Amino acid sequence: MDFWEKLGIREKNFGASTGLKWFETKNEGELKIYSPTNGKYIASVYQASEEDYEKILNESGKAFKEWRKIPAPKRGEIVRQIGLKLREYKPYLGKLVSYEMGKSLQEGLGEVQEMIDICDFSLGQSRQLYGFTMASERASHRMYDQYHPLGVVGVITAFNFPVAVYAWNAMLATVCGDVNLWKPSSKVPLSAIAVQNIIGEVIKENNLPEGLFSLVIGKGSTIGEKLLNDKRIPLISLTGSTPVGRHAGEAIAKRFGRAILELGGNNGIIITPDADLKTAIPAIVFGAVGTAGQRCTTTRRLIIHESVYEKVKDSLIKAYKSLKIGDPLDEKNHVGPLIDKSAVKLFISALERVKEEGGKVTFGGEVLSGKGYESGCYIVPALVEAENHYKIVQEETFAPILYLIKYSGNVSNAIELHNDVVQGLSSAIYTNNLREAEQFLSIEGSDCGIANVNIGTSGAEIGGAFGGEKETGGGRESGSDSWKAYMRRQTNTINYGTALPLAQGIKFEI
Ligand code: NAD
Repeated sequence: MDFWEKLGIREKNFGASTGLKWFETKNEGELKIYSPTNGKYIASVYQASEEDYEKILNESGKAFKEWRKIPAPKRGEIVRQIGLKLREYKPYLGKLVSYEMGKSLQEGLGEVQEMIDICDFSLGQSRQLYGFTMASERASHRMYDQYHPLGVVGVITAFNFPVAVYAWNAMLATVCGDVNLWKPSSKVPLSAIAVQNIIGEVIKENNLPEGLFSLVIGKGSTIGEKLLNDKRIPLISLTGSTPVGRHAGEAIAKRFGRAILELGGNNGIIITPDADLKTAIPAIVFGAVGTAGQRCTTTRRLIIHESVYEKVKDSLIKAYKSLKIGDPLDEKNHVGPLIDKSAVKLFISALERVKEEGGKVTFGGEVLSGKGYESGCYIVPALVEAENHYKIVQEETFAPILYLIKYSGNVSNAIELHNDVVQGLSSAIYTNNLREAEQFLSIEGSDCGIANVNIGTSGAEIGGAFGGEKETGGGRESGSDSWKAYMRRQTNTINYGTALPLAQGIKFEI
């Protein structure tokens, strides 16, 4: 038996479910899924129809009316059970994520661990959906704010995190009293079906309503559009590229929906003369080539002080030469494949464009072929000497290209270069100089949602709020107080006295 069969993946799968129920539509096209690791066919998915979508929304609406009445800690108990199931299935699901998406097995398992962690976090959160109590200016009045569930939460996810990002959203939304509708990327639908099956076991064991956790696999242009424009979905959380996010943001705003947008990054690390290169070099390499450069937090720009530029470049070339590229399920390898051949084309064309603009490819950039590389998706990560203002450097190329950019003078110059891009997700500085570190974190420092000192740009923990500024979209999800985005806030004032004093001392007598 192949390991994915343990997760309920069959040769042919349906793409729409409300929990235990699957809709058996076959006439909307079949997605055939091949592994980028070896080019081999895994399984197929029949895409959902618009009628399936309508049936799901009906069930979701009904489920919400029931689910919102369940006390939040009891909702937390369901999420706790999902966490337990995920622990049980972690070896299989981690492997499927790795095989379907192409990230390393360690990273595939890490994604499932993130799901488990957010289940634990959400369980605790279920007893902490706090509002404030405020002092009223009026005698015998009490004022406080409280949080109520929103309704159906639409979660649209990107290919590079096939399962974790869904859980970041769905587990919090569930304890908040919302119900979930997930539209995963059509590049990695099997991992989503596996998660739906795992959650299905908890639904069955607890006799939960259909519609609490729904899945819809279909085209962005049809099913995706339906979600964006559907007034019955008060919140859409979309993780994806900036162009798709821009379009989504406009459509959702038009109907006064709420959006959490988690979009592209162009993450930089500043290397100052004081940087500890012993820890900086591995952090840079992991940040730049991990997940084959396909993380939103991938390190794409290295802003290096001229006094250490050559040393850093030489150390990176040495480190890149030692990278093992190959099957991500083989734990000896450091770099796996890109998601598909069109991603390989984008990688090649970005390197052509940077050369035209005056950049120099110092290492890598080749497409690998031959034994072990049959899928045509393996490339050699590239190091490129470039300048920050190049058009291609300003863009997010979703592949392992690290631009080496020189700065001179003080750290203010480096910060200026660092912030001079349209994206604002993750950032870091390597320095042992306290003043430089604090300046980087100050109001004059990094303009990103995530700013680190002496660690790289990728590999966030679930406990912090995750997201970025500018064209990264401004959304926050996962830890800290991100849960508030999944609830509607209400201010309540109660008069327990016998008079009717008006606010601001306004007199009104009849
Ligand atoms: P993408 O923008 O191509 O697709 C993202 C999702 O949007 C997919 O599910 C896709 O089917 C859907 N979609 C596409 N068109 C749509 C439409 N018209 N209506 C509704 N949905 C639609 O992104 P991708 O290639 O899957 O992922 C890579 C991108 O995601 C990168 O830019 C990366 O930086 C970004 N990303 C951001 C974060 C973050 O937290 N900021 C995390 C992961 C990935």
